[in-house]
Amino acid sequence: MLAALPRTALGFFPTPIHALPHLSARLGGPALWVKRDDQTGLATGGNKTRKLEFLVAAALDQQADTLITVGAPQSNHARQTAAAAAKSGLKSALVLRGTPPADRTGNILLDDLVGAEIFWAGTRNLDEVAGEVAEELKARGQRPYLIPLGGSNPIGATGYVAAMAEFIEQARSLEVKFDAIVFATSSGGTQSGLALGAKLGGYTGRVLGISVDHRANHLVPLLVDLATATAQYIGTPLTFTANDFEVNDHYLGGGYAVLGEPEREAIRLCAQTEGLLVDPVYTGRAMAGLIDLIRKGEFMAEQNVLFWHTGGTPALFAYAAQLA
Ligand SMILES: *Cc1c(COP(=O)(O)O)cnc(C)c1O
Repeated sequence: MLAALPRTALGFFPTPIHALPHLSARLGGPALWVKRDDQTGLATGGNKTRKLEFLVAAALDQQADTLITVGAPQSNHARQTAAAAAKSGLKSALVLRGTPPADRTGNILLDDLVGAEIFWAGTRNLDEVAGEVAEELKARGQRPYLIPLGGSNPIGATGYVAAMAEFIEQARSLEVKFDAIVFATSSGGTQSGLALGAKLGGYTGRVLGISVDHRANHLVPLLVDLATATAQYIGTPLTFTANDFEVNDHYLGGGYAVLGEPEREAIRLCAQTEGLLVDPVYTGRAMAGLIDLIRKGEFMAEQNVLFWHTGGTPALFAYAAQLA
């Protein structure tokens, strides 16, 4: 089913799964494991690489020569899109929220290094500006392909359907029954794809998204629609309801990209027990949520819990002052 879909190789797969024995011991909870989608290899990697393997193939099918996408200033998705474009012989245009920051570090530095053209949208609607940029590029003779926020449409989410199949196979060879998968959820492509992949592959453990920015009552309907549309796109008749998704929105803190004490603790704890870097915006927040759930006794000592690391490492550098 997936094998028939056009796909461009961009990353290193399967990404490794390994145990986190020192973090587990420190927390006194379940056996913790991590799946390293921060190591997909595309200009440091991250979860968007999996989505982009399908999105870039679709762009190439349409004879596009430029990828356009949108995001926050420190968007990991924008950086991976620009890197995917470079690797595929395409140009890239990024529409980022706000104005150019004085310190061009983290993902913004990498955007520039991989050759992206950056358009600063100020406070305007990102999709509206992206539409204008597309027209501008066409007027220049370019053939743009528009990728939505987070790459979260049925084509992009297909990357995480494939990822779940990859994980199920790895769990089988490791001979570990994973009771739960925990990860950062935001624009929904990752969670929709994982949920669809779980249904297809018969994974019955928890698939728990820790929301970094949306309330569950906002995100879940989007996940239902995206997972159902993705099923249709890949050619299976599966449909979804709200019961197919577990979203925890108790860790939104001060809002999107606002670093708080829980994220600070999670970043230092992972780094100092395992040499594992989690980021200030997504994985640090999701890990802080997982740590809190473990402390509250949500998981039993004999359970296996997998933290699906979705990337974000470059953003650490943009928060250097706040992390010191
Ligand atoms: C985009 C992103 C996410 C969220 O993935 P969605 O598919 O948008 O829900 C999580 N972690 C990192 C590091 C990301 O860049």
